Amino acid sequence: MPPILEVNNLVKRYRTVTAVDGISFAIPRGICFGLLGPNGAGKTTALEVIEGIIPPTEGEILFNGTPKTEAFQQEIGIQFQHTSLLNFMTVRETLLIFQRLYQAPESIERLAEICNLGEILDKMNDRISGGQAQRLMLALALVNRPKLLFLDEPSAGLDPQARRYLWDIIRGIKNEGRTIVLTTHFMDEAEYLCDEIAIMDHGRVISRGAPAELVNRYCAGVTISLPRASVRTPLAELPFSHREVNGRLEITTDRVDAGLAQLLALKVDLAEMTVHSPNLEDVFLHLTGRKLRE
Ligand code: ATP
Repeated sequence: MPPILEVNNLVKRYRTVTAVDGISFAIPRGICFGLLGPNGAGKTTALEVIEGIIPPTEGEILFNGTPKTEAFQQEIGIQFQHTSLLNFMTVRETLLIFQRLYQAPESIERLAEICNLGEILDKMNDRISGGQAQRLMLALALVNRPKLLFLDEPSAGLDPQARRYLWDIIRGIKNEGRTIVLTTHFMDEAEYLCDEIAIMDHGRVISRGAPAELVNRYCAGVTISLPRASVRTPLAELPFSHREVNGRLEITTDRVDAGLAQLLALKVDLAEMTVHSPNLEDVFLHLTGRKLRE
């Protein structure tokens, strides 16, 4: 079976700006694929070109192995980064209006169940919380029962609790067998939701793989950090490589248990020790010298 979506050498240029600079990837069916990158990396533009909202400057997009046709728009679901809801309508009325756009839409009951909208169906749109509004947007993207769903920064602006709640709903949607393509500049969101990610910067894909794979590829080992003062042994005599950063000693090791055993043998006070496992933020820093969010 061909990948559900394949993008080859996609380019989008605005007058002087090359927003997307020749990206290529294939997305297998049933996974959550993330485009991760800082603001301005080109994620939204890439998504909008793939969705057919704006035309590409160059490149090819295949859906189920063949170039997209007009039917593509009917078969995908899109949650835009910014959507305005009409204030004078209830959540149920909003869903009903979207249902009328399609021949065989999902039922309101099912949409409410998937996105947990049951208790707010009869509330006015301007009386629901940010998290509830995002869940309504997600339900609107699901009205036509899409097999492929695009989510642009789905949890932007939400508090941590509402984000986690939304993430679990998105996971549930994926577990129903749908393919999800999402953009995010939240490293934790990509780690929690995505089976595969493409890291974008300056319009290009700078690395691709499963989150854990990328971390192992670029940033193996954990970092043990201790106040400098807690180590009495002269630094030159320490049996492991280390560096001093802002009054703390950082030791990077592949084996945290062996590292700790060595520290204990040196009678180091571990009371203020921290252990940092590398994540996608470290991968981005390694690849670009910058943080994802600055
Ligand atoms: P964010 O996380 O902030 O949404 P992004 O990674 O989605 O960022 P894009 O919004 O795709 O990035 O923008 C990529 C680049 O293209 C930016 O430099 C942006 O200013 C530029 N750009 C986007 N849309 C247009 C446009 N309509 N005209 C000109 N330049 C644009």
